[in-house]
This record gives sequence, C-alpha cells and structure tokens, in this order.
Amino acid sequence: MIPFNKPFLIGSELKYIEEAVKSGKISGNGKYTQLCHQFFEQKYGFGRCLLTTSCTDALEMAAILADIKEGDEVIIPSYTFVSTALAFVRQGAKIVFADSYSDNPNIDLDSIEVLITSKTKAIVPVHYAGVACDMDKIMELANKYHLLVIEDAAQAIDSFYIGKDGIKKALGSIGHLAAFSFHETKNIISGEGGMIVINDERFTDRAEIIWEKGTNRTQFFRGEIDKYGWVDIGSSFLPSEVIAAFLWGQLENLDIIQKKRKLLWEYYYQQLNPLANLCGIKMPQIPDYATNNGHMFYIQFATLEERTKYIERFKKQDILSVFHYISLHSSPYYSLKHDGRVLPNSDKFTDTLLRLPMYYELSETEIDAIVNCFLEK
Ligand SMILES: *Cc1c(COP(=O)(O)O)cnc(C)c1O
Repeated sequence: MIPFNKPFLIGSELKYIEEAVKSGKISGNGKYTQLCHQFFEQKYGFGRCLLTTSCTDALEMAAILADIKEGDEVIIPSYTFVSTALAFVRQGAKIVFADSYSDNPNIDLDSIEVLITSKTKAIVPVHYAGVACDMDKIMELANKYHLLVIEDAAQAIDSFYIGKDGIKKALGSIGHLAAFSFHETKNIISGEGGMIVINDERFTDRAEIIWEKGTNRTQFFRGEIDKYGWVDIGSSFLPSEVIAAFLWGQLENLDIIQKKRKLLWEYYYQQLNPLANLCGIKMPQIPDYATNNGHMFYIQFATLEERTKYIERFKKQDILSVFHYISLHSSPYYSLKHDGRVLPNSDKFTDTLLRLPMYYELSETEIDAIVNCFLEK
C-alpha cells in the first residue's frame, strides 16, 4: 500500500516532548515555543512569529488584526481550502472570489484589480503547492488601493519569491501578515499546528494580546508591565508545549526534510515528464519568480473522466491519489452569496487536478510503481 501521506518522526520529537513534561510546564509559550519563534525569525527574516494551534487559527487571528468587519470585502482565490475564506466570513466579511491562472492554480492577478471596490480591505493570496504568487504585483495593488495582504502560506514553508529587484525573499515575509500550517499533511508537521507571522509592526502588540485570550500576559512575562489583565478580544490561539516540542524536533531537521522532498519531487518530474504527452497529462509549472519546496506533486488531466479513471487505476494497485479543492464559490455554504461570476480555471482545477503520494519517507522505488501505472494500457 502506498498512502497519500504519512506522518513521520525525524529526530528528537519524542525526547523533547518528554523533557517538556518533566520540566513541569506543558501549557503554551514556554521554552520550545520560543525556540520555534526564534528559528523562524532568524532563518527566514520573518517579523514577529507566534505559534498557533492551526493555520486556520492563524488566519482567524489575521482577520481580527486586519479589523475586518461586517460588509468589508476580502479577495480570495476560489481554488483554496475552506479556512482561507472562513476566517474572514467569521468577521462578517463578504468574500469576493477570484479565478486561478489557466496554467497554475494560484490567484490570477490580472483578474483582481477590477474586483477592488471602496469596501475592499484585504487580498489573501494562497501559495498553492508552495509555489509563490507574484508578490511584487500583489504588493503594488495593495499600496495603490491601501489594502492589507495576508499570505496563506500554509503550504509554503521554505519557499521563496524572487522579486523584480532580483532579491529572494521567503514566502510569508512579504505580506503584512502570513499564516503557516504544521498539519500532518504539510512539509514540517506537529499533527495540528500553525503560525502567524506579523511583518507589519503596527500589529505586533495587539497580536500578542489576541494570542493570549485578550490579556497582556506576554508583556507581563517579559517584565514590561507589573500586572496583567483583560485588555482586548482574543482566544486561546497558542499551542501547548507538547506540540511545540514536537515541532522543534522537526525544525532542527528542516534542511534534511526539505532536501529529501525536493529530490523526490525532481524524481517524479523526471520519470513522468517523458510520458506526459502520451498519457494526456499536464506537468506542474513553476514560474521564474518562484522556487519549489517539494510540498506537493500534482498533475492535471484533460477531463474529469480521465482523472477518475486514473484514481481507480491507482486504487487497484493500492496507491492512494487524491484530488484537491472544490471551488469555494460553488460550495453549499457560499454559492448563494457569490455574485454569480464564472471562474472557469478554478472549476477546471477542481475537476482535473490530481495529487500523487508525497511524504518524507516515500522512496524512489515507490515512485517507480506509481509511474508504472501510467504505462498500463
Ligand atoms: C492546510 C491548509 C490550511 C489549513 O491549515 P490547518 O493547519 O489545517 O488549519 C489553510 N490553507 C491552505 C492553503 C492549506 O493548504
């Protein structure tokens, strides 16, 4: 059996969890949480980092920080996970869905300027498969119309954007705010887990408060104030030290994990590319301004029927391949609120994109077995 995803241990995850328990503190914001924060701030040039219990939570924090209110509009790709939209819907926002490019699931930036109105507050680009959106273009639009940019970088750890100035910047370091996921299906895992990155200092103090149930406890522990209390809205967004200890065991090995995933991705590409025409599949495209972080190996079929045929074919060989998002603009929850614009590229990826097994412990032999399924008559 080749599963689609498989959680893995790579280093001292279990040892660190044990240490955390024995230290007598496993609630949040302890030693391991702080090690993780420092790691990200130093390695990727992120602003203030705060671990959260999920990327969904990080996006909810971002929506609160962006002060999204009833009637505000937020521009989001339709081809994304529910959480990207949900965070803003909970604040009362109207979601304005944008289409994907025809050759890449990322938000089509040529289609969004006409969607901006006086009510638009934010754009939420999703770096699908860890492949960067064109951030120069997004930041230009945001500056022109005074919008906030919240990167949904759930899949984009250790991936970069190369700007017009030639400078390589980590995804998650460019927007005003960004959200990452450490869900077991992502590159770096802690079961459930996430992180918000605050690159715009205007939001840092408030972020720490919202993170700690609306209290100024973080400032108190730094010795900046002599008692703490309830000062704002918030929630319990911070994870326990058990989660942070697991994550730290992974982060220490991030370069090893990333090297392996990128090798697996390259191997898939080399093996499948010569068969692409024969099998009627489109290979993933990575624009010049983006890097590949080996998050996902996806291909595209010509039709839904073709994709279904291949899913069945894989299943017979005990190989699990899975399709991905179903356009949010046509979801049971939001379709009646959507303004009726057709988003054909998003629908096309809904019907034809297929993700092949991809995880740290996958082997080249297993990839060979997967690729062999394409050769069957
Ligand atoms: C995984 C994912 C999320 C949600 O992450 P959780 O940590 O499971 O909340 C949000 N957006 C995108 C694009 C994702 O891939």
